[in-house]
Amino acid sequence: MESQPLHDLTPAYALDALSPEEVEAYEAHLAHCEQCREELAQFQGAAEALAYAAGPEPAPSSDLRERILDAARAERSNVVPLRSRWTAPVAALAAVAACAAIGLLAWNVSLRQQLGDAKSAMRGVPVSGARGSVVVGYSGTGALVLSDLRAAPAGKTYEAWVIADGKATRAGVFAGGSGTIVITLDHAVPAGAIVAVTVEQAGGVEQPTQTPFITSQPV
Ligand SMILES: [Zn+2]
Repeated sequence: MESQPLHDLTPAYALDALSPEEVEAYEAHLAHCEQCREELAQFQGAAEALAYAAGPEPAPSSDLRERILDAARAERSNVVPLRSRWTAPVAALAAVAACAAIGLLAWNVSLRQQLGDAKSAMRGVPVSGARGSVVVGYSGTGALVLSDLRAAPAGKTYEAWVIADGKATRAGVFAGGSGTIVITLDHAVPAGAIVAVTVEQAGGVEQPTQTPFITSQPV
């Protein structure tokens, strides 16, 4: 029987918020807990998506990135022997490519720093009632990561809620399913709020009509 406290450390581990002793215990657990590995991967994916979404600077467009990569590839092709009359122009091209490669490197470093900064400002909490967790970026954008939630009954849907100051705000409907699913919440999650899930009629409702069967700790 797996110990639930170790399962619950997934969000904190993904956000580098554990003590060295906890990291050691969690990684030992991770080595033989497939559910935690899958949940961790989904959680990290959600966390990175939220970090990029909330980043202060947009990443270079894919077009620019592709051009930088092309230039870097061109530089690598220069290792083939060259006839002397081509050396000067190729050297010039290589210099341009090297600058482009440095640009790409700088972009990667900047992206990693942004992600690091964003991660440290992120919060992650486990939920009760299902396997999973809630991750919230520093802009308040949140996602629910749930594992092996059986599909909603026929004619019904799962509906997520952000509950703050005793008020529930709808945050999206979703179907369950095997494996780990990530639901990006339609409503911001302020600090101290709870994320909950109810079963509602298909299409969802404006206010919960059922008692939540999944509730998070306050984020
Ligand atoms: Zn586990």
